Amino acid sequence: MSEAQLPLRRELEGLTPYGAPQLDVQIRLNVNENPYSPSEETASDIAAAVRDAALGLNRYPDRDFPALRQALASYVHQESQVLIRPENIWAANGSNEVMLHLFQAYGGPTHKALAFTPAYSMYPEYARDTCTEFVVVPRMSDFRVDLDMAKEAIVEHKPALVLITSPNNPTGTAMPLSDIREITQMARGNGPQKSAGDHTDAVVIVDEAYAEFRRAGTPSAMVLLEEYPNMVVSRTMSKAFGMAGLRLGYMAASQQIIDNLMVVRLPYHLSAVTQAAALAALAHTEELRAQVAGLAKQRDQLVVDLRAMGLEAIDSDANFVMFGTFADRSRVWKDLLDRGVLIREVGPPGWLRVSIGTVEETAAFLAALREVLANERA
Ligand SMILES: *Cc1c(COP(=O)(O)O)cnc(C)c1O
Repeated sequence: MSEAQLPLRRELEGLTPYGAPQLDVQIRLNVNENPYSPSEETASDIAAAVRDAALGLNRYPDRDFPALRQALASYVHQESQVLIRPENIWAANGSNEVMLHLFQAYGGPTHKALAFTPAYSMYPEYARDTCTEFVVVPRMSDFRVDLDMAKEAIVEHKPALVLITSPNNPTGTAMPLSDIREITQMARGNGPQKSAGDHTDAVVIVDEAYAEFRRAGTPSAMVLLEEYPNMVVSRTMSKAFGMAGLRLGYMAASQQIIDNLMVVRLPYHLSAVTQAAALAALAHTEELRAQVAGLAKQRDQLVVDLRAMGLEAIDSDANFVMFGTFADRSRVWKDLLDRGVLIREVGPPGWLRVSIGTVEETAAFLAALREVLANERA
């Protein structure tokens, strides 16, 4: 059979699928998962909830999943002490899909999305897939965002979407709440043009995938939602919550924004199985708190340990640490892999990123890294 001449969109020609390598090694510290499995009790409750849901699988699921939105609102209240109404919550299959919905609603030809790089590597893909122009403002050498540059770029580009990753991936750095506020304020009236002399408000997405790991004194942007109808705060059950395999991301925003997203979502996008499993998992938040605190403590210690080895390590508000710098980071990455430790080659040249694992995994990573560096220096 001869090959077909497929009408692939020009901009997709020659591209390969995105994704971190999924390798079968013992210690996997490359995609910022929570290293602990759910408890037996949580697993049993999820199984029972899914069994009940299975009896109704001949029917389409509830399109608007009010029970899950209520449970997510309660979780946010407990976690961030901010009251969000269930109607102001939206969810999808991972925060990746939540953000794609935002691009589908607000991006598109003639519209731009703006991000502060280095940032999450999926953003340019949402932009590409929705034919949205992607523009960036590079972060400073300490990976903070220069507030004046950010505001100037918003005024210049009139973006439909501004993406703030806080805590940021891959740097681990959080943006001060006052900066988020100023950027969101500047975004008002600086979105794409509506009619002559009349501009829309840019939508500011604060991607808080790692919110639960933030250090004391770093507030969540959830506290700003009441003031800004053009702001979205996105969260996920994939990281701190330890449910990456579930695929459940969510966000909070004004009713106007939620209404717009409901127009672009596919019908019944959240399966009955996902809804049931997520609801059951959300009834077990108490076991998370100690886990998250333990991981955050290990993270702070890891920064100290890496620096004691003569390396640079960036203070982190997430469950990973970016460290370096290496003349040949690919070799360090590979040498670690040869010792059974998989981390991530991501971020600015010279840097590597390692997720916080169990105490044993983190110790094994450090031991392997010591060996690798000793060999390099020998
Ligand atoms: C991991 C991550 C996500 C979460 O993706 P899910 O689709 O919810 O698994 C979102 N944003 C950032 C910055 C991330 O690192």
